[in-house]
Amino acid sequence: MADKKKVVFMQLSSCWGCHQSLFDLHEKLLDVIPLLDIQYWVAAVDFKLDHLEKLPKGSLDAAFVEGLCRTEEDVHLLRLCREKAKALVALGTCSTFGGVPGLANLSTRSELLDRKFIKADTVVNRDTIPSQNLPTITKFIPRNDQIVKVDAYLPGCPPTSTEIANAALSLLTGKPLEHSIKSVCDECERKKEEKNIKEFHRDFEGRPDPEKCLLNQGYICMGPGTRAGCGAQCPNANHPCKGCNGPPDGVTDQGARLIGTFGGIADMEPKKMLAAFKDPVGQLYKFTYASSLISKIRSGSKSER
Ligand code: SF4
Ligand code: SF4
Ligand code: SF4
Repeated sequence: MADKKKVVFMQLSSCWGCHQSLFDLHEKLLDVIPLLDIQYWVAAVDFKLDHLEKLPKGSLDAAFVEGLCRTEEDVHLLRLCREKAKALVALGTCSTFGGVPGLANLSTRSELLDRKFIKADTVVNRDTIPSQNLPTITKFIPRNDQIVKVDAYLPGCPPTSTEIANAALSLLTGKPLEHSIKSVCDECERKKEEKNIKEFHRDFEGRPDPEKCLLNQGYICMGPGTRAGCGAQCPNANHPCKGCNGPPDGVTDQGARLIGTFGGIADMEPKKMLAAFKDPVGQLYKFTYASSLISKIRSGSKSER
């Protein structure tokens, strides 16, 4: 046990998909598990929180954290991980950039509660917003690294099983985790031509040529503004990249980068271009809204939050 690395795997508010991706390693997990002395992993073992709370400060080698801070309990768990672990790893795009749940920053807390408990089509009793036994929700969703220091990031929604295994092995054997300045386009093998797009298409319109760059064909592919690492798996499946890895290192705002890219290659009137983006925030900031410049401005300005 002495040589094993003490680790925790934590879920904050999340869909647990990143852990599912980890479990998808199946028998390859056997390469990783023997290296670990797992101290907390509620997705797999019935650990109690006080076990984690009682661990000495800095006694863990690494904490792998999935999810984001939507509740005050999440904030407590994230701070615990930081206090106990020498290295904190953001596992997945929610943990790195805020992910899809970060789109909640478009609304105030009362708007969200109203939607959830009064307005959603599936709600039966529409009179009340429960006030008892609800977790305290945070005013807005911050990036995890706005709350604690994060040592390494492994974005992806979810990261592939291989990426998780390689990152874990690398970290646990003392090698630094490499950050990519490459984009999905760099690992996409489709034929790229000079882009001079006359028309954008929705994903379901027409049938894209399986060999040519999707953006060349007018499909809104986020590859140019998205971090490499997944092996361009969506374009390989004839589907535009949706941007789930977030921006490459060095790019602070994925949506802003892509607005510039699309504007530079579209040969059309701005009005026509705008019409092609039916849901601009959902398309350009689906995974990174909580990290975006506009979210920061809005989070600071909505006093009612
Ligand atoms: S990054 Fe994606 S898969 Fe992972 S928890 Fe968030 S939503 Fe789920
Ligand atoms: S299909 Fe998408 S990812 Fe591939 S080269 Fe074109 S824009 Fe880049
Ligand atoms: S191609 Fe884009 S959307 Fe698909 S997995 Fe890779 S980064 Fe995510």
